[in-house]
Amino acid sequence: MNDYRERLIDFTCRLIRTPSPSGREKEAALLIAAEMKKLGYPEVLIDDKFNVTGVIEGAKPGKNLMLNGHIDHAATGNMENPYSGDIMDGSRFGSEGAVIYGRGACDMKAAVAAMVYAGAVLQKERSKISGNVYVTCVTLEEQARGEGIKHLLDHSGLHFDAAVSGEATDMEVHLGHRGKFEYLIRVHGKTSHASNPARGVNAIFSMNKLLTEIETVYAKSLAGHEFLGLSTVTVIDILSSPGRLTPVVPDYCEIVMDRRYLPGEDSGLVDKEIEEMFDRIKAVYPQFSAEYEQIKDFPVLYCPPEEPVARAAAGAVEEVLHKTPRYKAWKFGVDGAFIAQRGIPCVGFGPGNEHYAHTPEDHVRVDDVYNSAGVYCQIARRFSGSAGKSEDAAL
Ligand SMILES: [Zn+2]
Repeated sequence: MNDYRERLIDFTCRLIRTPSPSGREKEAALLIAAEMKKLGYPEVLIDDKFNVTGVIEGAKPGKNLMLNGHIDHAATGNMENPYSGDIMDGSRFGSEGAVIYGRGACDMKAAVAAMVYAGAVLQKERSKISGNVYVTCVTLEEQARGEGIKHLLDHSGLHFDAAVSGEATDMEVHLGHRGKFEYLIRVHGKTSHASNPARGVNAIFSMNKLLTEIETVYAKSLAGHEFLGLSTVTVIDILSSPGRLTPVVPDYCEIVMDRRYLPGEDSGLVDKEIEEMFDRIKAVYPQFSAEYEQIKDFPVLYCPPEEPVARAAAGAVEEVLHKTPRYKAWKFGVDGAFIAQRGIPCVGFGPGNEHYAHTPEDHVRVDDVYNSAGVYCQIARRFSGSAGKSEDAAL
């Protein structure tokens, strides 16, 4: 057991020491594939986007489980020694015990390493496992378009019945996250000389009416969800023209509106909400003229707690970590949303706290890396129906 622990922690450090910003994951992918082969995976696939899939075939037919993580990481910014992969005391970050430091530690190389090692344990006990386990280590996640995972889902030819995302959950079970729409809203007016504003229609003043409506009415009308929290709306950018170089009343103003949404909400609903705002403004300010366009959609992710994979995760947390599982949600978006979009239920469990993702304090607790490998094994055992009551839950 200790040998396993040491090897897993060493592999996590080596993975962090291998830079893999989005689009440049080849070296990290080859490192993972080599480790899988060394650990006895019977089959390791690498596709042309450098997604790596380790295959564990259960001895009996059954449901197939995907363990999923991404191997790219955010930009290093002004982080000190981002690729050190050093083990240090966690107290400097407010974390207990030893931690591994480096870019991608908590988002999410530690989880990927733990999944790779969990797969090795499952391979050894494959005679008891029904269905296959696929450890999928994908690329191109950080740009938030899911290019790596989508490519794998479209081209691997593999069938998945459920998935576990290893994005940082601080050792709790996460059921998903809100979705995000971005809308570009344009308001039109009429130019005039700034010394004679009454002859124009000031697009900034028109936009001000919309901003007030968003802040004071729209934002307060939104729904909530038991696990995912509240829908929200805010404005993240504003621009007007022709600008300050000549004294002219602006005839154009645009904003970008960020609307976080919940399961059951869709772009049709948000379109309607925006049109209703426009109508309310026009009723008292007839010269208001605006249009809108959706420019981004990051899908919502929600795995109901009664899904077998969510139940397997909760049971595994209870058995391996000896604590009562609590269902939570991520603040950030994960590749699991693209997995769930294909009708594959996806639950979250991973080492590290998302609070430290993309920060100069990127780190993960050593104990959590090891324990999460144990949880991944037990999720797979429970999901495949091979977990007995007396089963050793750890590695
Ligand atoms: Zn991530």
